[in-house]
Amino acid sequence: MSIETISLSGRKKEVSNKKMTFWESLYLVAIVKGLFITIKHLFTRKVTIKYPEQVRTRSDVYRGQHMLMRDDEGRERCTACGLCALSCPAEAITMKAEERKPEEKHLYREEKYASIYEINMLRCIFCGLCEEACPKEAIYLTKSKVLVPSNYDREEFIFGKDKLVMPLEAAIANGKLKNAN
Ligand code: SF4
Ligand code: SF4
Repeated sequence: MSIETISLSGRKKEVSNKKMTFWESLYLVAIVKGLFITIKHLFTRKVTIKYPEQVRTRSDVYRGQHMLMRDDEGRERCTACGLCALSCPAEAITMKAEERKPEEKHLYREEKYASIYEINMLRCIFCGLCEEACPKEAIYLTKSKVLVPSNYDREEFIFGKDKLVMPLEAAIANGKLKNAN
């Protein structure tokens, strides 16, 4: 079998250059066929939804927005080891490590911390490998339904610590919850 005759999809059609008949040149049959296809879809199950009014039920293993976690005392867990960046298949994570000063013990749990931590959301595929790789349980993909808002500016898709670090109030609430149990 020659390469020209192989059709993997089975939908391959030979292009014909034969002259159109009078009826074909009116395109009436083609228009009726097109309308039939459109009307047929009025009676089939819709595959689209009216987002954002309607939201689809998400899978149990849904992975949403990342969060850089704090411990029960509100200190940032991340030690800027870089394992998440190394494991990221999309090379979406960058960071800069700094040494913790003695007066910053209440801010960062480890002696080294990420002074800059950025995720490029245009690259991220929400695979969760950064979460798997982290030895400090410092990064999680949350169940948040708020994903990356659309924007015309590429810079807006670089999420820094201001958008990624867990809010302090949430860490305090977590700590209280654990102490109560
Ligand atoms: S979820 Fe996957 S692609 Fe996104 S930052 Fe983490 S490892 Fe990279
Ligand atoms: S989030 Fe975890 S893996 Fe990534 S740099 Fe921080 S401690 Fe390391």
